[in-house]
Amino acid sequence: MDPVTDSLNEIHRRFAALRDGRVADYIPQLALADPDDFGIALVSMSGHTYRAGRTDSAFTIQSVSKPFVYALALSDLGARETLRHVGVEPSGNAFNAISLEPGTGRPANPMINAGAIATTALVRADGPAERFARVLDCLSAFAGRPLDVDEEVYASEAATGDHNRALAYLMRSAGSLRTDPAEAADTYFRQCAVRVTAVDLAVMAATLANGGRNPVTGVRVVAEPDAVRTLAVMATCGMYDAAGQWLLDVGLPAKSGVSGGLIAASPARFGIAVHSPPLDPSGNPVRAVAALGEMSERFDLHIMHNSGLHAATVTGAERVERDGRTIGVVTAQGSLEFTETEALLYALQGLTPPTPGRLVLDLTAVSTVLPGPATALVAVLADLVERGHRVAVAAQLVFEEAGETRPRTWEVFDSREDALEWVAGDGD
Ligand code: GLU
Repeated sequence: MDPVTDSLNEIHRRFAALRDGRVADYIPQLALADPDDFGIALVSMSGHTYRAGRTDSAFTIQSVSKPFVYALALSDLGARETLRHVGVEPSGNAFNAISLEPGTGRPANPMINAGAIATTALVRADGPAERFARVLDCLSAFAGRPLDVDEEVYASEAATGDHNRALAYLMRSAGSLRTDPAEAADTYFRQCAVRVTAVDLAVMAATLANGGRNPVTGVRVVAEPDAVRTLAVMATCGMYDAAGQWLLDVGLPAKSGVSGGLIAASPARFGIAVHSPPLDPSGNPVRAVAALGEMSERFDLHIMHNSGLHAATVTGAERVERDGRTIGVVTAQGSLEFTETEALLYALQGLTPPTPGRLVLDLTAVSTVLPGPATALVAVLADLVERGHRVAVAAQLVFEEAGETRPRTWEVFDSREDALEWVAGDGD
């Protein structure tokens, strides 16, 4: 029983039926994508991975690479120098528009193609081979595994990418591109053709949400201020022309790409990625936008929502002996939102014996439980009882009310002591 996977599966089921949108075909090789491919992956700050649907399909990263390479450029040059070359203002124009600042030729932001080409050219290197090697190493560190290039997609874009090449030449003539334009465009095409899965993208997003440290490998990929800056630019410029509406409705820093990938980062909570090739008129993957909207609403993920502190929710996960019986006890405090509930349920799972046993959930210091987490908690408790465990909750608040309709099959007590005593016994 895993409520996070259950939620993802439910959302996946609901939106798999959506048939709107069109698979991008301006890069010929992308037109071969299966429109039914649809996977959702989520990685928590403790590095746990949750998945629904086809999360192992490989696809090219395309524009979802842009924030990560921007973070690399920030690491290399610092924020001020990077800003001299690439702006941070939403352009309001299409992703491949000629959004160059009059006078300086500086592209509007690193999420549009011109800005991304200029950003890639900023990555420190002795020549193009080393530059791309550093880009690939950086994307791999974000993903926590060595990534490679889909040579067919690369060749397909290189053969048809004159528009992007033209952007590079324009920037060069305006004095805002640091390298040879043909080389800059070529390195950018290879960057866009790096092959990933939805799980890779979720780990990458989680690394940004975790302040630049990969929560799965433990490796610090970029410094915290660079991760924060990158998330801020994603929030204002990450969703093509729909960035404003997205921030209003979903409220998470995000980036989408033409192959149907979309990442969103919930700072200090998790990274999520959805892959589904059909795109809406703004260029965002239709099912991914719907799925993330639903997630955000269900778990109150909007960054403007004041969620308070997430510190030390699970304050104890231990086995105690009482009357010759072993009891697993999980103690929590504060407000149970997504991250807290995930940590709590993970701790509870760790203490649940394979055969029917005894469990106490001490929530006496928990102040609030949001409706989404309450539903998850209720489902887990009901499932434990169904599997024969003797389960008691110590709590002053009535969280089941928020958690919909399943009849209560576990015992509730006012104090931890009473809960322990009942669970250690055999009677009612
Ligand atoms: N390689 C693609 C291009 O430059 C990426 C575009 C995107 O994903 O937005 O056209």
